[in-house]
Amino acid sequence: MTLKGIKLRIYPNQKQQTRIKLNFGYNRFVWNQMLYMMIERYKNNPEAKFLNAFALNNLLPALKSEYSWLKDAESTSLQSTNHDLVEAYKKFFKEHTGFPKFKSRKFPKQSYRSSMNIKLLDNHHLKIPKLGTMYFRSGRQITGKIKNVTIRLSATGKFYAVVLVDTEVKELPKTNASVGIDMGVADLMITSDGIKYPTIRFDKILAKKKHYWEKRLARRRLQANKEIAWDKHNKVMNPRELSDFKNYLKAKHMVAKYSEKIANQRNNYLHGLTKSLVECYDVIKIEDLKTKNLLKNHKLARAIANQSWREIRRQLEYKCEWYGKQLVIVNPRKTSQICSNCGYDDGKHTLYIRQWTCPKCGVNHDRDINAAVNILQATA
Ligand SMILES: [Zn+2]
Repeated sequence: MTLKGIKLRIYPNQKQQTRIKLNFGYNRFVWNQMLYMMIERYKNNPEAKFLNAFALNNLLPALKSEYSWLKDAESTSLQSTNHDLVEAYKKFFKEHTGFPKFKSRKFPKQSYRSSMNIKLLDNHHLKIPKLGTMYFRSGRQITGKIKNVTIRLSATGKFYAVVLVDTEVKELPKTNASVGIDMGVADLMITSDGIKYPTIRFDKILAKKKHYWEKRLARRRLQANKEIAWDKHNKVMNPRELSDFKNYLKAKHMVAKYSEKIANQRNNYLHGLTKSLVECYDVIKIEDLKTKNLLKNHKLARAIANQSWREIRRQLEYKCEWYGKQLVIVNPRKTSQICSNCGYDDGKHTLYIRQWTCPKCGVNHDRDINAAVNILQATA
């Protein structure tokens, strides 16, 4: 059995939207209360035992009797929040990542997770505790046992549900083919079969529209801040806040909308690539990205490539697992300077050399395809 997350666009009615937003608030409140308590507890006694999620859940009834409105919360979501807080602490201890932060109402993305009594009624209706029946749309069929559902509100005001299902994934038919993949910047992936998958700059395609709204956003924020400063200076009774400026909010919404669009397009492209790889090959070999060293590229292009490579690796890891294929990570040592035909080491080739001829065996190489073949031939 495999756990699979399926993202659905949900369409809650007005009443359901209000409930969802209230529940975001309840969970934020519990997170902040518990975090505050844990910080104080540590201050009072650094030797005190670290509280696990079970201990935090035991504190919920007391919190509910102190703040009676908390009784309206979806209770499994509060337990999920406690669980997430403990995980955030563990991550901080283990990986020395950032200390858990207090959550703000103003954070553009809000979410909570329910884990009981979630029912799929048909291909377009889901029943969720405290919310009732809700219409949804999804490109994928939901099969298997539903473990939990995460309700999300995006920065542009769209509601989503990510349903985690325990499902049987059918392995893909074997093809007896293997492939080596070199990852680049101008071409995102180059395979040992000689196929080049271009990097598509989705950000550039929408750049004009996004930039139009970014300029407006900057100008409107500046203007709003001036007026807020004026209110404060003149000791106005109810000084305005940024959220009172309608045209500022509109610009902010439009910038978020284009960012979301760009991210979605890029994600769809990468999902298409990794899906076709696991369909075509049984063994997929890629380089260990940690040691990958590409210099002299425009900074933004480099950052986008880096992010895409990480995402491709992440997707290949779980898709190979799901579909019964094998992902092999190899050390990319000298892949661009060794002849994949005879093994001759031609020494370092600068990035400007796109093709070269091996002086020993005379084969002419495309730099990237040769590297991909070397990756295919490398032993892990
Ligand atoms: Zn050679």
